Amino acid sequence: MLLFYYKRDLLRGGDTVCPSCRSSHCAYVSSVNYISFMIFPVFPTSISRCYSCFNCSKLIKNSSGSPEQFPRISKFRIFNKFIAVPLALVILLMVQSYSQNMEKLQYQFRLQPQKNDVLFIDNFKLSTEPTQVLYPYRMAKITKVDNKKQTMSIVLSSLGYRSISRANRDFVVRRHLFSSYFYEEEVELSVKMLLDEEKVIKIKRPFNLLDVENLHNDVEFEKKFEEFPYL
Ligand SMILES: [Zn+2]
Repeated sequence: MLLFYYKRDLLRGGDTVCPSCRSSHCAYVSSVNYISFMIFPVFPTSISRCYSCFNCSKLIKNSSGSPEQFPRISKFRIFNKFIAVPLALVILLMVQSYSQNMEKLQYQFRLQPQKNDVLFIDNFKLSTEPTQVLYPYRMAKITKVDNKKQTMSIVLSSLGYRSISRANRDFVVRRHLFSSYFYEEEVELSVKMLLDEEKVIKIKRPFNLLDVENLHNDVEFEKKFEEFPYL
């Protein structure tokens, strides 16, 4: 897929006679030529002057004609062809701050786990069982947290995954919301274990579900309408 394009920003000026076909349906045209990335201009390459003829239906390059007759191109028209560079910087900064926030959030989840948090674990490293080596990745749900003893209980998913992306895919389709997806047997672990990023790869905390009925009671709808007399 080609993402970089060569484009022209045309500025139409006054009418003239076509140097090619002598038609009067022709105009002076100045253009800023630039490279764009998708729809975003990256940098201008040149400015050119030509004739746009309705009759020939094409742009005719011709060096004749004095430069004053062609429309003047403002500096703004040239500078806005650099827009992709600051735009890319802003996007980069946003992505960076987002990933930093996510990292902080992950650390907070690891320090203060909650019931219903979903862990993505490497069960081969966690259990050191050779049988887990082929499908080591699993989801696990926290069922209980004992803050005094600093322990937690988890249930493992009955499915093992070859790669973490496959586990992700099942998380996206909400497979973890089905209780049959997890084994019934609970495993007790130390909360500190969550700090081991090789064993617990990441933690997802489900959002609190909105109580739609309560929300509905809080909203007051306007019931009085202005009355218009019948004609
Ligand atoms: Zn023409």
